[in-house]
Amino acid sequence: MLRTHTCGELREEHIGAEVNLCGWVDTVRDHGGVIFIDLRDRYGLTQVIFDPKDSQTSWDVAQAVRGEFVIKVGGVVEARPPDMANQKLDTGSIEVRCDAITVLNESLTPPFPLDDKDAGQVSEDLRLTSRYLDLRRARMQRNLAVRHRITQSIRDYVDELGFLDVETPILTKSTPEGARDYLVPSRVVPGSFFALPQAPQQYKQLLMVAGVDRYFQVARCFRDEDLRADRQPEFTQIDMEMSFITADDIYEVVDGMLAAVMKASGHEAPSLPFPRLTYKEAMERFGSDKPDLRFGMELTELTSVFQESEFKVFRGVIEKGGVVKAINAKKLGAVPPRIIDEWTVMAKDAGLGGLAYIRVQPDGNWKSPIVKFFSEAEKEGLAMALQMEAGDLVLFAADTVDVVNIALGRLRLLAGEMAGLIQPGRFKFTWVTDFPLFERAQDGRLTPMHHPFTHPHPEDMALLDSDPLSVRAEAYDIVLNGVELGGGSIRIHDQKLQEKMFGVLGMPEEEVKDRFGHLLRGLSFGAPPHGGIALGLDRLVMLMLQEDSIRDVIAFPKTQRAMDLMMDAPAPVDAEQLRDLHIDLNLPVE
Ligand code: ASP
Repeated sequence: MLRTHTCGELREEHIGAEVNLCGWVDTVRDHGGVIFIDLRDRYGLTQVIFDPKDSQTSWDVAQAVRGEFVIKVGGVVEARPPDMANQKLDTGSIEVRCDAITVLNESLTPPFPLDDKDAGQVSEDLRLTSRYLDLRRARMQRNLAVRHRITQSIRDYVDELGFLDVETPILTKSTPEGARDYLVPSRVVPGSFFALPQAPQQYKQLLMVAGVDRYFQVARCFRDEDLRADRQPEFTQIDMEMSFITADDIYEVVDGMLAAVMKASGHEAPSLPFPRLTYKEAMERFGSDKPDLRFGMELTELTSVFQESEFKVFRGVIEKGGVVKAINAKKLGAVPPRIIDEWTVMAKDAGLGGLAYIRVQPDGNWKSPIVKFFSEAEKEGLAMALQMEAGDLVLFAADTVDVVNIALGRLRLLAGEMAGLIQPGRFKFTWVTDFPLFERAQDGRLTPMHHPFTHPHPEDMALLDSDPLSVRAEAYDIVLNGVELGGGSIRIHDQKLQEKMFGVLGMPEEEVKDRFGHLLRGLSFGAPPHGGIALGLDRLVMLMLQEDSIRDVIAFPKTQRAMDLMMDAPAPVDAEQLRDLHIDLNLPVE
């Protein structure tokens, strides 16, 4: 080894020891004759002192080194004078008096400062172009290390429970998860393509057919979709599948796994089991299928209060079968009119005709353009249902139940944020269960809400033909602070039911055979009842570290335009490669 210790290791107990350290020059400070170098590696920072009285040669070299040079230093560990100790550094009570220095490699001047405090000023594109430098920053080193610890804690946990880590192919066939595929042309079979997996879904189900019983994989998945801050074209899932289980077993396994993750990332262990809400309840109470449970401000149903109302807007909606609901945004009674205007625009975007509100003034009087239409009984009913007090702001929505829930769900988040109720550092997990099996696509067709392998809720089987949109699925999501961490389902293990499912979705038999013949065949050889889940690892790590972007927890992420700026990918290839792949780029563009 070139070194005896790392740059984060030396303490008072090492005083007097002869050591060798290697690392990068973080800073050089010339204090009139004495030079200090902060030497950095993944483990920390150590102050090295050069004095021409100790070694003129070393002092000369020290004077010539620049930031990011890689050096080796040899010397003796000394106590820092008490007034020079640095409490913020683990190595802050010592320094190394250097009598031998070797430059192991020089460095160009980095294109941006590697200090965490300056990182915010640097454009992300610049950081990503020289990611190997960006990753030298302490914060990114911490992120990589915590990501490793989280993954390791998951591996240990599932290993304990008897899960087998099985790798599934990257070159495979399209499997529907609702995104576009990344395709790889085949050289051997002209005109044919592999798809990169959007998820190992069918493989893991077929592993259950194979008797693997408990499967797990840290699986790379690929989805060609428009990117947002928390999406990447390639991302990592904690992918799991279990045989002979019910949804409750999945909840229990994942509860324990997330508790281990919380511990591994230095947070307090959460209390288990995590709460469970049905999709219906989540929509009704929080207006979201991924409710943020860090605060209340629940949606309150007021339809019965306004059944006979003189206020035509409410009564009209109710007469047409719609609903009236409201949230009480506590303590926001004095928000500026500008905010109400912004929220009104948002409410209209969500489909509402407008946003009605009441400000409860400090003296308890209600200020609102609509209360004059309310009867005494209505006012009383309202005040009671919403427990209105001085300083509150009540926001109403009246429309079909779906529009009302979604609009109030969004307003709830904005109001919660404004009232300071969404506090960082708090972690509220919840399960959302019993999702609908189907939804209507934009073209009016029935599509699976999750994927077509999801088992219908046993109580709703009879509705599959008569009223498919009201069929619930044995599908669940795990949600943290309003973010979907992952989802899964009990699967269809009966080949006939799977065929029926494709039928309900209106898939022609030929297409079913082409796309899913292998799965149907697999299911017909004694497939056990099974189910599973996949959790987005990148997002999980991001939330544990309280970072804003998943790009900050992925070593080499792609940009919002799905480019790797460091490797300059994607990139054109030469004509010969294209010929080998039977690709003609000069085909007319349609
Ligand atoms: N394959 C699903 C997904 O990637 C998750 C699952 O159902 O296990 O979203």
